Amino acid sequence: MRRRWLFADQLGPHFLDDPGQPVLLVESKAVFRRRVFHRQKAHLVLSALRHRARDGDVRLVRAETYAEVIDEPLTVCHPTSRAARGLVRRLPGVEMLPPRGFVTSPQDFTAWAGGRDHLRLEDFYRHARRLHGVLMDGGEPAGGRWNLDTDNRQPPPRGARQLDVPAPPAITEDDIDQEVREELDRWQHDDGIAFAGADGPRLFPVTRQEALARLRHFVAHRLPAFGPYEDAMLAGDPWMAHSLLSPAINLGLLDPAEVIEEAEHAYRSGAAPLAGVEGFIRQILGWRDFVWHLYWYFEPRYRAVNELHARTELPKWFAELDADAVEARCLSDVLAGVRDRGWVHHIPRLMVLGNYAMQRGWRPGAVADWFHRCFVDGYEWVMTANVVGMSQYADGGRMSSKPYAAGGAYVHRMSDYCGGCRYDPKVRAGADACPYTAGYWSFLARHERELAGNHRMAQPLRGLRRLTDLDALVEQERARGSRAP
Ligand code: FAD
Repeated sequence: MRRRWLFADQLGPHFLDDPGQPVLLVESKAVFRRRVFHRQKAHLVLSALRHRARDGDVRLVRAETYAEVIDEPLTVCHPTSRAARGLVRRLPGVEMLPPRGFVTSPQDFTAWAGGRDHLRLEDFYRHARRLHGVLMDGGEPAGGRWNLDTDNRQPPPRGARQLDVPAPPAITEDDIDQEVREELDRWQHDDGIAFAGADGPRLFPVTRQEALARLRHFVAHRLPAFGPYEDAMLAGDPWMAHSLLSPAINLGLLDPAEVIEEAEHAYRSGAAPLAGVEGFIRQILGWRDFVWHLYWYFEPRYRAVNELHARTELPKWFAELDADAVEARCLSDVLAGVRDRGWVHHIPRLMVLGNYAMQRGWRPGAVADWFHRCFVDGYEWVMTANVVGMSQYADGGRMSSKPYAAGGAYVHRMSDYCGGCRYDPKVRAGADACPYTAGYWSFLARHERELAGNHRMAQPLRGLRRLTDLDALVEQERARGSRAP
């Protein structure tokens, strides 16, 4: 059996044909010279590779480039970026196999997408559930409904500072983590390699055992609360009832199919309600597979699309995660989360960070690069659809039916941030104006023409036309420029 070359995001057993298959791992320092990654992301990837190297017949090679270590015939599963795929294709003696690590195949996706003008998650998700028999009772969705969003997505419980769910099992660092930490210190101080964010205790799994422990704990203890609070934010609870599994799934430590199976089993055995289980499975079988396929399905220049002509570069305070420079409580807290953990949950990513960037007209490619570098679960394939398409609407609606733009009222409804904030979500102009509220109206005013044909934007645009203080508000936003709010 040929040795299997595993990229650093292909570490689990589902990337092998046989548990005893010999493995090649390549650790390349050059990757960390090309981009300023979050320090905790670098730690996670190196620690995961080095832990995997202790497991079975594994050759781990440290090298500047991949090409210099390929000296025997190898097989490799389809990599997750165009650059890596190009590299594999150029190397003689390396056979590339179909992708693994996702539930649906490229053929499943193209059969569904072919001929459609608009690619919408809901349609793909139903197709994938039927195809793979997930949460299905015969030909019908379990419980009779495909989408239980109306039961989910509630604001946080009134007065709560934290959700009443058990914390995920803590990670215990070992000698490999210690070695990685010391080595990253040397890279920083001796080799001038820069990292974003703060170092800190390792928060996410690097081994299959740690990943399985997190999965089982989540399904048993946290999944029941996932649905109702999946969109809620609390200043004192960054994790809420989220699974925290994206770093482990994206490193390939968990097969998304097994994650889905465990979640469905929880529903079938009565351990978790359908709404939460459906909401969770929608994230993995739906969103995760959907954005993966869109990365390959859209043309390579999709990453650079910019339909809203957003050209402002990221201000220094944002680029450098300077949360202390920000007074708006939600943005400051979320930026601090990125700095200190390299992870915040979906709604802070979309409605606090992405929303702020889109409102201010920051260049989508720069925003995507920032997300890629600063998040522990950030990979090239996740960026295009999530950041360029969903969060910045830079594709003019090819994957979402309207921009995810919202004012302070959304943050107020879905979090406890506004209570202790110096800004008022109801105020549009003046010293107390919430930057999200002012930014929202200013964004709509700037793009009124482009959004006019979108029926989902008709109501907000009618609201815009009724504003009597629009000129003052727009002028105030222009004057704020790139200053931290
Ligand atoms: P949960 O809320 O518990 O969801 C379960 C799983 O579903 C996640 O672990 C993840 O594997 C998957 N998932 C959910 N939504 C998505 C999605 N939109 N795209 C892909 N997978 C999804 N996800 C990443 O894995 N890496 C990223 O770099 C990333 N960047 C994002 C940037 C922006 C602007 C936005 C809006 C979303 C991004 N996401 C990214 C998607 C999502 O926010 C994260 O997957 C999720 O917050 C990870 O936390 P969790 O594991 O607790 O997720």
